[in-house]
Amino acid sequence: MRRDPPTGVVYPDVEGTLRERTVEALRDAELGGNLRTAAAGWTAGRDLMREEYGLDEMRARAREIRRGNIRRLPELLDRLEDRVREHGGTVVHAADGLAACRYVVDLARARGAGLVAKSKSMATEEIKLNEALAEAGIEVVETDLGEWILQLAGQHPSHIIAPAVHLNRDQVADLFARESGGPVPRDREALVAHARRRLREKFAAAEIGVSGVNLAVAETGTICVVENEGNARLVTALPRIHVAVMGMERVVADWDEAAHILQVLPMAAIGQDAANYVNLITGPRRPGEADGPEEFHLVIVDGGRGALRGSEFEEALSCIRCGACLYSCPMWRGVGGQAYGSPYSGPIGAVITPLLEGARPSGPPRLEARSAEMPFLSSLCGACHEACPVGIPLHDLLVRARARVSTPEQRRIRHAFRLWSRLWRHPAAYRLSVRAARLGLRLGGRRGWLRRGLPGPLGAWTDQRDLPTRWPPRT
Ligand code: SF4
Repeated sequence: MRRDPPTGVVYPDVEGTLRERTVEALRDAELGGNLRTAAAGWTAGRDLMREEYGLDEMRARAREIRRGNIRRLPELLDRLEDRVREHGGTVVHAADGLAACRYVVDLARARGAGLVAKSKSMATEEIKLNEALAEAGIEVVETDLGEWILQLAGQHPSHIIAPAVHLNRDQVADLFARESGGPVPRDREALVAHARRRLREKFAAAEIGVSGVNLAVAETGTICVVENEGNARLVTALPRIHVAVMGMERVVADWDEAAHILQVLPMAAIGQDAANYVNLITGPRRPGEADGPEEFHLVIVDGGRGALRGSEFEEALSCIRCGACLYSCPMWRGVGGQAYGSPYSGPIGAVITPLLEGARPSGPPRLEARSAEMPFLSSLCGACHEACPVGIPLHDLLVRARARVSTPEQRRIRHAFRLWSRLWRHPAAYRLSVRAARLGLRLGGRRGWLRRGLPGPLGAWTDQRDLPTRWPPRT
C-alpha cells in the first residue's frame, strides 16, 4: 500500500528533519574526522580477518544459518521458551515496546527496585526502556562506557557496536567533568579509570540488571551476551534480578550455529578474531551455585518483526547487529548515526527503522511516515551488502523501501527519471544531451574539475565534492 508521508517530518524526540540533520553533520569537520578515523580502523581490521580467516567464505554458512533461523522462528522460540522455563527462568512475549517496558517497570516496582544497571542493548534503545524507567522514578545507569557517555550527553547511539564513536576524547572529558563537577584528565587511561570508579558503585547497589541478547540458543535455553568491557558480566551476575531483552529474531537452533555466528560477529564488527567476553547465561542461579541472579526474566519483543516474516523485507531479520554495513556506507561515514534520528542507523537502520516504527498488530509491513525518508540516505553503491557477514542484500531492500514511498518530491524525481529514460531511448537525443553536458562541464570546469557552483538543485552535488570534467580525472 502506498502512503503519502509528509516530507521534512520532525521527530518528537530528535531535533530537526533528516535533511537538516544530515546537512548540519556534513558541515561538522570534527565529526567527520572522528568518523573517518574509526571507520578506517575497523575496515583495516576486517580486511585482516578476510585474509587470515576467510571471513568471506564464512559468510555463506552464516547466511544459511540465519535464513534457516528466520524460517523456523516460531518453532525455535517455542523450544527456547521451554528450555528457559525448565531452568527456572520466566519468559515474556511482548507484542511491542510499550508492553516490554511495562513489564520491566512493573517488575521493578513489585520488587521495590530503585536502581537498574544496564549493559549495552539495542533492543532496549529501540523500546526506550530508559525513558520508561525514568518516568516511573527508577534510576537507570548505563554501564557500557560508550552508552554511559551518551547517557551523560543525552544522545542516542551513533553506531551499533561503538555507540559514542562520533565523540572524541576531549568531548568525552568535558562530559565527565560536567558530571563529576571537577576537572578530569584528558588521557585515555584516566578517562576509563574515571568511568570505572563512578560505575563500580552502581553495579553493587543495583537491584536489577538489564542486558540485551546477541543470540539465544533454543537447544539449551542459553542467552549469549557479547561484549568487550566486562560490564555485562557484572550487570548479569551481581544484581538480584536479571532481565534480558531480545528482539524475537535473535534465536539460533543449537550450539553449532551459535559458535559460527559468534565467530563471525566480532570479525565483521571490529576486525577482532574473538570478542573479549562471551557471557553464556542459562537461567537464574541454581541451588549450590555461588554466583548469579536469583531471578531471570527473558523479554522477547516482536515490535513489528513478526510482520516482516514472509514479506519482501524478511531478510532484514537475519541481521546480527555487527555494524559492518554502517562503517562501510559512504553516507554513514559522512554524517554519522546521530543524523538518522534513530537508534538504528546506516543501511540496516534505514531499512528497519521505518518498518519497525510502522508496525501494526496484523497485516503486511508498512513504512512509518516520520522515518520514510531514511531509505533515501544511501548511494546504493552496494558496499553494505559486500560488508554484511550474513549477506543481507541491503541495497535491494533499500530500493524496495523507496518504491513504497510516495512523497511529492519523490514523485517529481520519478517523473524526471522517466522523462530522461524516454529521451535516451533515441540515439540522436542521447548524443545531443551528452555533447551539451560535456560542453557545459568544459566551460564551467577549471583544470579538469568543477569545484562548486552547479546551478539550481544540481548545486547540492558540488557542495560536498568536486566533479571531474574529463575522464579519467586529472589528479
Ligand atoms: S545488516 Fe549485516 S552488516 Fe549490517 S549490522 Fe546487520 S549483520 Fe551487520
